[in-house]
Amino acid sequence: MAIDSTIKSPSSSSSPTLNSTQLVRDVIRIEGKYYDTKGLASTHPGGELIVRLSNQTDGTALFNSSHRRRFPHDKYKHLLIKEENVDPVSRMAPNTQNYDLYFEICEKIKPIISPTQGFAPWWYFIKVFVLVAFVIGVDASTFIWARPLWVTAIQSLFMAWIGLNVQHDANHGAVSRNWKINRALGLTQDLCGGTSVAWSYNHNVVHHVHCNDVERDHDLDIPLLRLMKSVPWTMSYKLQQFYFLGLEAVFGLVHVVQTQVWMWRGPDEKMRLVGKDWDLSRAISMIIPLRFIGFLITQPTIHDALLHTALQYCLGGLYLAFFFLISHNFCGAKKEGIDSTSGCFVTNQTETSSNVGGALLAFMNGGLNFQIEHHLFPRVHHSYYHKIAPTVRKMCQERGIQYMHFPTIKDNFVSTFNHLEQLGAKPSE
Ligand SMILES: [Zn+2]
Repeated sequence: MAIDSTIKSPSSSSSPTLNSTQLVRDVIRIEGKYYDTKGLASTHPGGELIVRLSNQTDGTALFNSSHRRRFPHDKYKHLLIKEENVDPVSRMAPNTQNYDLYFEICEKIKPIISPTQGFAPWWYFIKVFVLVAFVIGVDASTFIWARPLWVTAIQSLFMAWIGLNVQHDANHGAVSRNWKINRALGLTQDLCGGTSVAWSYNHNVVHHVHCNDVERDHDLDIPLLRLMKSVPWTMSYKLQQFYFLGLEAVFGLVHVVQTQVWMWRGPDEKMRLVGKDWDLSRAISMIIPLRFIGFLITQPTIHDALLHTALQYCLGGLYLAFFFLISHNFCGAKKEGIDSTSGCFVTNQTETSSNVGGALLAFMNGGLNFQIEHHLFPRVHHSYYHKIAPTVRKMCQERGIQYMHFPTIKDNFVSTFNHLEQLGAKPSE
């Protein structure tokens, strides 16, 4: 499956002005134009990481949705690379999505997010402190206290809330205008067993840009679940609406293991520009064996140590996976037919996501229950989502764009259950 909009165009462009050894491989395509990745990264006020992670992809959607304005081509014309000088392996079809309605909505929400220009309000940092201090405090206590399982269970939930409330905003660049604050808080992803580098690529560069695009969104590729019709049907999927919760319970642990293996294997061709950040994630990942050693020291048996380790990642993982799954997999969620490289950006993002609940759930889950607003405005801090939702909803409904908001988690869950049941049923010949 393709991982971004790099549906390769035939390398039949005009004869290159550079010889084949001089062709430029590290490029990002924005509104049809190719730019030098390292050049853009070095001048990016939001930090180099996200630009380097976007290497060899079309960055139009990511730029527009992160900055809520069009790319300033004039300002960066010195970094332009002629198409004939781009290495054929890095050439891709241009993103032709229409952003007219998107920028119209951006104008409408401007006054609402103006108090902090869309970044985090002061009180948010109290929430960050409480969540991070609790997880680190419990971790530290592991070496001196044979803590009961319920403490590990609560810590696991706090790790999930860090994932939703801290690293998520931070790795989207939504906490502060200062990229160093975002980067520092983004590393809490590594603290919880993931890696900020892998997460930022898979989430920001792939999932957000290509939401529910069956050709490109990796998040539809979950083993043992049939989340799209292109997955060949087998008998086992008939019960997926029942077993998906069990699968999600092991999601956290599997994710931690997979991420670590991926990270220790080292960066591939596309990711080789993020070496320093990769090394930092590797260093922080030492916290995973350290936690286990702590359990071995204080827990009575190795069995108890393993139980704590599994619970530490499984419970939080279940919480995260549950809320993720119900927000893009429900009756009416658009999948087949979505082409994230063309059509209307607002329609593509809105009709593939759903909202649930209100401001209280948004406070708990980092605004990710307002998935529509989050996908449209990933770099607006989550504390604004419930405030901008009525405006987004009105503008979408006026244009006949599906806007799905479930009143309760139960309503959303029932819709997800039915959706999985439909996809798990044997397709008619
Ligand atoms: Zn996100």
